[in-house]
Amino acid sequence: MKPASAVAEIAAAVEARRRPYIEIADRIWGLAEMRYREFESAELHAAALEAEGFRVTRGVAGMPTAFVAEAGSGGPMIGFLGEYDALAGLNQASGALECRPDPERAFNQGHGCGHHLLGTAAHLAAVVARDHLRRHELPGTVRFYGCPAEEAAAGKTFMARAGLFDDLDAALSWHPSVANSVFMNATLANVQAHFRFHGKSAHAALAPHLGRSALDAAELMNVGVNYLREHMPDQARVHFAYIDSGGPSTNVIPAFAEVLYTVRASRIDEALALFARVEQVARGAAMMTGTTVEMVFDKAVSNVLHNDALDRVMAEQMEAVGALEVSEEERSFAAKMQSTLSAEELASSAKHFAAALRDPQPIATGIQPYRPEAARPVTGSTDMGDVSWAAPTTQCLTACFAWGTAFHSWQMVSQGKTSLAHKGMLLAAKCLAATGVALAGRPEVLCEAERELRAKRGGAPYRSPIPEDVMPPPARDVKV
Ligand SMILES: [Zn+2]
Repeated sequence: MKPASAVAEIAAAVEARRRPYIEIADRIWGLAEMRYREFESAELHAAALEAEGFRVTRGVAGMPTAFVAEAGSGGPMIGFLGEYDALAGLNQASGALECRPDPERAFNQGHGCGHHLLGTAAHLAAVVARDHLRRHELPGTVRFYGCPAEEAAAGKTFMARAGLFDDLDAALSWHPSVANSVFMNATLANVQAHFRFHGKSAHAALAPHLGRSALDAAELMNVGVNYLREHMPDQARVHFAYIDSGGPSTNVIPAFAEVLYTVRASRIDEALALFARVEQVARGAAMMTGTTVEMVFDKAVSNVLHNDALDRVMAEQMEAVGALEVSEEERSFAAKMQSTLSAEELASSAKHFAAALRDPQPIATGIQPYRPEAARPVTGSTDMGDVSWAAPTTQCLTACFAWGTAFHSWQMVSQGKTSLAHKGMLLAAKCLAATGVALAGRPEVLCEAERELRAKRGGAPYRSPIPEDVMPPPARDVKV
């Protein structure tokens, strides 16, 4: 079968199967479950995959909402990765052109990063790729990974640490976006930990000399880290938040204080080295104040290693699938949504994309050319980073939202169930399934991708940035 006709067949299969998947995405949008508690969302995916004949293993890597579904047999091993977690503070009415909570909802969560679409397109792609390989009697195993807690967490890093991606020849994923392209941006590695200071309480006026202030220690740690900023690598970032400032009383010297730190850098080795310096500052602050400090490691994610061998195939398949087709109605809704964005917000969104989008329409319909040599401005962090160190990885973006829509905004939640969001999701499913099938038939590309990954890791195997004894939060919270 010619490559072009395989793409046409895959695209038709995605369209033919679309209805139940749009329903899954819409239901997950409504559930808006987050951070390791995506019980119903994960089960919607797992049960549907089981009904399709996939062998499902639930609760992998110590996380009840992580699962692996597999179909087919033998090599090559092609993995599709899906997410389904939402964000806090983003309850928003569907389709509204203003920031307005949905009064029907008893909780304040929302899909502000489109992960309801992300998981569903990857799921649909796995089913369609499996069907295609089976229909044409082609060898290969297709896997879908149900990956929880991407936002402010690291579900996939724990899955990578458990070795779940080690035997993959290719890992494929995507992200809902405002443009259509191979994912070419750099991402930052990060390391996150709690610093808990223990001091001694005392009456702040009657016996201050007997007290040792845990709040003073936390404050001095923050001051110390602020001085560290001058001596950090380019693009490194350090953020902190008070979890517990020691209570509301000024007349009691606080015996306990806790700060959460996130350290980011271009590469995971840099982030870990900078984190070690932050830890030293915490120890210094404890010494200065006569307190003790306990560090509780929370999570870490590696930077994404792009794989040119796989990305080129993704680019070629996206070209073959073709541009997004949108209606006049969708265009005019997108234009209205765009009018809620400031010029600054539009410019901020544009800087992550190539010059081709300098004068965009309300919806970016075309496929951006694959030009990895062009600037790849840094975005945030993602736990896809660890997948990309464990197995050759490629990702794409498709336009599910009006051009300029910011991630983690009410506008993104509002647009999550529109026909444009669904079209972008189906486009992603086509691109992912077509790329998975193309790669399954090209062992030489898979070998090249593996060689490239080894070279980018400097010949070393993948090492998890999360220490062995740090459990994922759901397992951590279980009392034994
Ligand atoms: Zn996201």
